[in-house]
Amino acid sequence: MKYFTIEELTDSIVARQLHIDNTPTPEANKNLEALVEHILDPAREILGKPIRVNSGYRCATLNNCVGGVANSQHLKGEAADIGTGSPEGNRILFDILLNMPFDQLIWERGNKHGPAWIHVSYCRNGNNRGEVIHL
Ligand SMILES: [Zn+2]
Repeated sequence: MKYFTIEELTDSIVARQLHIDNTPTPEANKNLEALVEHILDPAREILGKPIRVNSGYRCATLNNCVGGVANSQHLKGEAADIGTGSPEGNRILFDILLNMPFDQLIWERGNKHGPAWIHVSYCRNGNNRGEVIHL
């Protein structure tokens, strides 16, 4: 945990507005730490610039409120939606992440220059499938 904190991986504007307690379970906390150690910190190191976390862990109530799918890896603390502030920067980050041991890497919307944001996940206890999806 060099560049990221559990706080920024659990912070949510929606949770604050709706007074939802988005404190991670001990299991989710460990999964978030593994996501940072194996994916987010190494990618940040190579990128050399800050990465913004839009959404990390989501408790079930929060996940429902933001329209997350029922089996979302955000529920387990295995996923984060991240970005750099521009599609071009996100494109560079996406290419860096392709070399990480991720479970799922999703190019989320955006345009030909890059994704609007990136969903990336890592499974601490399971097989990481290396699945790449363009939405
Ligand atoms: Zn996501």
